[in-house]
Amino acid sequence: MTAAIDPNPNSYARHDLYEERETPLAGIGAFATVAIPSGTRIFCEESFVMLPETAAHLDLHRAVAALPDDKRAEFWALAASSKPSKDVAWVATLRACCDDDASGAFNILVEEYERAWSIFETNRFTCKSLDAAEPSMLGLFPRAARLNHSCAPNVFHRYNPLIRRLTVHALRDIAAGEELLTSYIDICHPTVTRRQLLRHWGFRCCCTACDSPDEEEDSRRKRMEGLFNQVINRERKRVRNEANWTAKDYERSLGVVMKAMGVLEQGGMEETDTLGVICVFGTQLAGKAGRGWEEEAVEWAKRAMEIDRKCLGEDSKEYMRAAELLEAATRQKDLAKL
Ligand SMILES: [Zn+2]
Repeated sequence: MTAAIDPNPNSYARHDLYEERETPLAGIGAFATVAIPSGTRIFCEESFVMLPETAAHLDLHRAVAALPDDKRAEFWALAASSKPSKDVAWVATLRACCDDDASGAFNILVEEYERAWSIFETNRFTCKSLDAAEPSMLGLFPRAARLNHSCAPNVFHRYNPLIRRLTVHALRDIAAGEELLTSYIDICHPTVTRRQLLRHWGFRCCCTACDSPDEEEDSRRKRMEGLFNQVINRERKRVRNEANWTAKDYERSLGVVMKAMGVLEQGGMEETDTLGVICVFGTQLAGKAGRGWEEEAVEWAKRAMEIDRKCLGEDSKEYMRAAELLEAATRQKDLAKL
């Protein structure tokens, strides 16, 4: 294990590094006020509303009503751009528990619930729990909600269940004046798929990757999507069938992993944690594949640690797992020398 974790660190925002201000097209955005080095944790914040993925309009409204005045005002000030939900069963439930049956007042109430839902849908972040078997939650984080989207992001966000905060890190060196942009979706998809996914937020992406599509970059993302799916599918197969997995099967899986690394290294997509995820798969497979893969296992574990430190920080479970993998890979490499 590496650094000791403070179980309850304060939330903070590096207002010495960035400010929020109006953008011409996308509401409020966050902008670097000074140069921000790659890997810097720019902010770390608690959710002010956290609901299960199954939550509906009434649960949300109850949660918002329970907020202190200042937080409630902050909630209503957030952008709402997602379309109304098609499921309207909640309206009948609301009607049943509503004392005020004047239809004008009821309609206003329904509009308020719909707006709250749209705010939630526009700004929510998926929060995976520590136990992968547990269902994810959806959280609202007012600072992160100000970050606009790019398919070529310069910051990375993720909920860290160990510290119960959402963290935002610089993915590369960011110059003063640049807007801080995160990706709302997995960026390893071609433009057409990304556009479909981004419809949820009700905008057409005009980022550098979407607007001036270098065809080579687009086909690289498509290749990456295919290779990533292959890695995941082969892993599932291996887990189901580990006892019969032969040296040849491991070689084949490692071949796909190395192809995926190659595509990610060609540029454009190395600025995410996808390469870190692939390196972790590589290390684990190399460890199981046995002799001949020791050097690679150590190298990949080191890279995974480096990427997880940059994107997520040393207090993330991903970083700690990569550190453990490095320890195991180093041990295996030393043993192989004997
Ligand atoms: Zn885009």
